[in-house]
Amino acid sequence: MEDPLWQKRSPQVFPSITLSHLSSSAPSSSAASAFFSDDRSGCSRLRFHQPCSAVPVFDLDLRKIQIFKLGLLELLCVTNETGDDDPEEKSFSRVVKIGFSTKDETKAFHLAFEQWKLGVVVTKTDGPLENGSRKSKFDNKIDATSAKMYFHYYGQLLHQQNMLQDYVRTGTYHAAVIENHIDFSGRVVLDVGAGSGILSLFAAQAGAKHVYAVEASEMAEYARRLIAGNPSLGQRITVIKGKIEEVDLPEKADILISEPMGTLLVNERMLETYVIARDRFLIPDGKMFPSLGRIHMAPFSDEYLYVEIANKALFWQQRNYYGVDLTSLYGSAFQGYFSQPVVDAFDPRLLISQPIVHTLDFTCIKEEDLYEIDIPLNFVSSVGTRVHGLACWFDVLFNGSSVQRWLTTAPGAPTTHWYQLRCVLAQPMYVMAGQEITGRFHLVSHDAQSYTIYLTLSAKAWGAGADQGGTLQTFSCKLDLKEPYYRLSQPQPYVFQQDQQSHTELMQSQEPSPQVQDGTGPSVAIIPSQISGASER
Ligand code: SAH
Repeated sequence: MEDPLWQKRSPQVFPSITLSHLSSSAPSSSAASAFFSDDRSGCSRLRFHQPCSAVPVFDLDLRKIQIFKLGLLELLCVTNETGDDDPEEKSFSRVVKIGFSTKDETKAFHLAFEQWKLGVVVTKTDGPLENGSRKSKFDNKIDATSAKMYFHYYGQLLHQQNMLQDYVRTGTYHAAVIENHIDFSGRVVLDVGAGSGILSLFAAQAGAKHVYAVEASEMAEYARRLIAGNPSLGQRITVIKGKIEEVDLPEKADILISEPMGTLLVNERMLETYVIARDRFLIPDGKMFPSLGRIHMAPFSDEYLYVEIANKALFWQQRNYYGVDLTSLYGSAFQGYFSQPVVDAFDPRLLISQPIVHTLDFTCIKEEDLYEIDIPLNFVSSVGTRVHGLACWFDVLFNGSSVQRWLTTAPGAPTTHWYQLRCVLAQPMYVMAGQEITGRFHLVSHDAQSYTIYLTLSAKAWGAGADQGGTLQTFSCKLDLKEPYYRLSQPQPYVFQQDQQSHTELMQSQEPSPQVQDGTGPSVAIIPSQISGASER
C-alpha cells in the first residue's frame, strides 16, 4: 500500500532533448524525452524515454546522479547506479550526455534536477521520528480532519492570492527583507510554510545564498512553478513539500522567514511550527523574521454591535413558528452568538482605555508555552460608559540589522486581512470615568488548530457601599477562536462623544509605535470561507 504520508509530486517533463550514451561501446545520439518523477517508495527518479516507447532507456535514482555543465547547450549526467543484469558492469559508471536546443532549456533542466534531487519529502516513515514516536509532533497534537481541511485550504491559489493582495502584509514583508538585505545576503534561509513561495523569492532578491521553501500543502507544486518561472532567483531556491515537523534539510539555516500569524496572532497554531523550525533548523543565534509578536487588548464600548448580536437570537423567541414554540432554545442560541469572536475593522474611538500588551518572543519561547496563554487584565476606563467586551489586535517585529519594522493590525492603521477581533460580553457592564477594570484573558489551545478563549472582566460596583470597598461585578464568557463571526459587510456607524479620549492619545503611549509606511488596506473585503482553521487569513 502506498504510504499515506508520502505526497507525490506531478512529474516534470522535458520533451525534446538529445541523448548520447558515452559509456557504451558505440556511442550514438538519439532524440528522447526526460522525466523527473517520484516512485512509490518516495525516491525521485530521472527517466529517459525514446519517442513512442513506454519503456525507459535509462531509469536513474536521482540521489546517485551528478550533473556537469559541458557548455551552454549540453549537460553531462554521471551515475554510479548500474544494472543488476550484468554483474561486470558494476565496476563502471554510466555517462550520458544530454543536449538541449536553447540555453534557457539547459538552465531549466539543471534547476529541475537540483530541485527534484533536494526537494524530496523525507517523512522518515522507515523509522521513529525525533520525538521517538512514529507520529510527528504535528500529528500528535492536531486532529487529522482539521489538518486535512487546513492544508486543503492553503493548497488553493485563491487563498494565497488573498494573502498576496493584502499589500500592508506583503509590502511590509518585502520592505523588511530588502531594507535588511545585509541579514540575507550570502545566507542560508528557511521559509517556514512557504505557500506560493513569495517570501523565498524576496529572500533570494535580498541576496540569499540558498533558500529552502518548506510547504506542506499542494501549494508546494505551484511554488515550484512560480520559482522556476523566475530562474535568476529560482536557481537559489529549493522547494520541499512536507511539514516542518517531518522534513529534513541538507543544512542548517542562518535565518528563518515565515508568516505564521492567524487571527489574534495565535489562531491556526502555526507559531508552534515556527518555533519547531527554529529548534530543528536554525543555527545558534540565527535570526528570525519576524522575531516577536505582541497581542494588544483594550475594553470597548459598542452599543450597535451588542444589539446586533443580541438580536440574532430573537428568532428563537417566537412562540408560534408554524405552530411550534421555539423559546426553549432561546437561551442556548443567545449564548451561542456570544461565543463567536467578532472579526471586523472597528473605529479605534470605541476603545475606552489604553491597551495592554502581551509579548511573545519567537526567538526563545518554548513550543509548549503556546499551548496555554494566560494574560491578567488591568485597565482604567477613560469614560463613564457601558463596556461591551475586549478588543484585540496584534503586531510583529522584523528586527533587522539595518531597520526595525513593525507589521501592525491595529484599529485605525491601514486594514489588513486579519482585521481586528472582539470578544463581546453577553451582559454589558457599567463603569465610571477613572474606574479600574480587571480580569483575565485565558487562551487554551485545542486540536482543531485553534484556541478556546475564557474572558473575565470585573469592575467594582459604583454607588452605595463603594467607599467601603464596593462589590465586584464580574462577567465571564467562553468563545471559540475557530468559529469567528466575520462582520465585514456593514458600515460601522459611530458618533464621537466629546468626553471620550481620542484614539491618538490612547495609542500614543504604546512604545515603540508601529511603523508601516507602505500599502493601503484592501478596498474590497474578502469574506473567507468559514470551514477551515485558516479562514481568517
Ligand atoms: N509564506 C506565504 C504563505 C503564508 S500562509 C506567504 O507569506 O504568502 C502559511 C503557509 O504555511 C500555508 O501555505 C500553510 O499550508 C503552510 N503551513 C502551515 N503549517 C505548516 C507546517 N506545519 N509545515 C509546513 N507548512 C505549513
